[in-house]
Amino acid sequence: MKDIRLKSNSELAKPKFPDTAQWPRIQRLLRFGGGACVLHGLAWGSYYSTQGMGVLAVVLFALMALGLACLYLAKTPEHVSLGIVVHVLLVLTLFASLADAPTAAVGRSTHLFFMPIGIATFFLFRSERFYLRWLFPGACFSALAVLELSEVSFGQDLELLPATIRQLGHDLNTLTAMVLTIGVLAIFREDLGAKVDQYTALARAVAQRELCAYLQPQVSSDGRVIGAEVLLRWDRPGHGIQSPATFIRLAEETGLIHEMGLMVLEQACWHLKAWSRLPGVDQWTLSVNVSPLQLTSKSFVADVRAVLHKVGVPANRLCLEITESVFTGDLGLIAAKMNALRDDGISWSLDDFGTGFSSLSLLQALPLDELKIDQLFVHDIEKDPSKRELVRKIIEIAGILGASTIAEGVETRPQSECLRTLGCEVFQGYLFGRPIAADEFLQVHAPTPAQPSPA
Ligand code: C2E
Ligand code: MG
Ligand code: MG
Repeated sequence: MKDIRLKSNSELAKPKFPDTAQWPRIQRLLRFGGGACVLHGLAWGSYYSTQGMGVLAVVLFALMALGLACLYLAKTPEHVSLGIVVHVLLVLTLFASLADAPTAAVGRSTHLFFMPIGIATFFLFRSERFYLRWLFPGACFSALAVLELSEVSFGQDLELLPATIRQLGHDLNTLTAMVLTIGVLAIFREDLGAKVDQYTALARAVAQRELCAYLQPQVSSDGRVIGAEVLLRWDRPGHGIQSPATFIRLAEETGLIHEMGLMVLEQACWHLKAWSRLPGVDQWTLSVNVSPLQLTSKSFVADVRAVLHKVGVPANRLCLEITESVFTGDLGLIAAKMNALRDDGISWSLDDFGTGFSSLSLLQALPLDELKIDQLFVHDIEKDPSKRELVRKIIEIAGILGASTIAEGVETRPQSECLRTLGCEVFQGYLFGRPIAADEFLQVHAPTPAQPSPA
C-alpha cells in the first residue's frame, strides 16, 4: 500500500507528543537546557580530563553530547523523544552527583541539578502516563533529598583538586542550578498562563454562545442533499473563526466538552425543528460529533433525551458520530448507552473509520448504523487500486454489520464516481459543499436541480 499509513493500535494509543500547542515551550526548554549542558559539560569535562579524572571527564563529555542532541532536537519536532532525553539526563546527573563526593571543606553541589530537571519533567509530562507524570519527577526530587542528606559517593578523589577550584565548582553549580530552575519555571509559567487564558476564553465562549454550528451537506448517490454534519466553530473575538482542532482537545482536558457537546446537540435539534416545517427538507437528518468523553458521563443518555424533549424533534432525524477511540473504554457500558438512545430512534455512525482501533469483534459489540469511510481512503482512490480494494472491503464489512456507508472528504468527481461504483451510499466533502454557517445552509442547499451529482 503506497499512500495509506495505517497506524498500529499501539501507535495510535500514544498521545500526540509533543503536542503542537506545547512545542514552542519544549523548543525553548531544549535550547535552554541543551545550551547549559554543552557549556557545563565542555568546561568541566575538559578540566577533569587535564587532571586525569577520567570517569568524571567521560560523564561530563556525555552531558555535553546530550546537550548537543537537545539543540538538534529543538529543530525537529517530529523526531523528539523527550522520554529518552530525560532518562539519559537523569542517569548522567546521578553519576556526576555520586562522583561529586562531599568533603569537609566543600559540600556536594551537582545534585542540585535534580531540582530543575524534576520541575521541568513535572510540567513537561503533566498529561502523560503515570510513570512520566509522577514517578519520574518524584525520582528526581528523591535523588535530590538523598544526595543532600547522605555522603554516599563513588569516592572520586576530589580532595586532590585545589580548594579554590572545588569552591568555584560548588558556587558555579549552585548558581547554574538556580538559573536553570528559574528559567524552567519562567518557561512553564508562560505555558500554564496560556492554558489558563485559553480555558477562560473557552469557558466564556460556551457561556456567551460564541460557539456556532457549521453544516456540511451529505448527499445521496442520486445527488440529493439528505442531511448534514454539524461541525463546530468558535467565533473568537479578535481571532476570527477557529477550527475545532484548536479547542476540542482543551475542551476534553478541562471537561468543558460535556456542556459544549450538549450545546451543539441543542443547536442541531433547533435546526431540525425548523426544517421539519419546510417541505423538501423536512426529512433531512443531522449528524453530530460526540466526544468519547461525553459517552463516559453517567448522565449522557438522560441529557440527550432531555435536549430532544425540550426542543421536541423526533430522535430518528439525529445521528451521533463517535470515533474508534471509544473502543478503548468500557465497551459494555458504552454499548448500553448507545442501545438506549438507539431504542429512542437515534442512529450511530462510526467516524474516521479505518484509522483507529476497530477490530471486527469490537465492531460487532456496538450498535452501529453507519460506517464513515475516512478521507484518507478517499484521497486518490481513483488512482490507487489498493485503496479501492480496502474501500470495497469496508463496504462489505458494513453490509455484514447491517450498517450503511458514507464517504467523507470527497473532493472530486472521479472520487465520488469511484466510490459510488464500489457501492458507497452517501457522500460528504468539498465537492458537494464546504461547511457553512447553519443559517446560510438552507439558502445554499435547499433542493435545486443544480446540485452536483456523485455519478
Ligand atoms: P470529522 O468529524 O471527521 O469532520 C470532518 C472534517 O473534515 C471537518 O473538519 C471537515 O471540515 C473536513 N472536511 C470535510 N470535507 C472535506 C474535504 O472534502 N476535504 C478535506 N480535506 N476536509 C474535509 P473540521 O470541521 O475542522 O473538524 C475536525 C474535527 O473536529 C471533526 O472531524 C470532529 O472530529 C471534530 N469536531 C467538529 N465538531 C465537533 C463537535 O461538535 N464535537 C466534537 N466532539 N468534535 C467535533
Ligand atoms: Mg464527524
Ligand atoms: Mg471524520
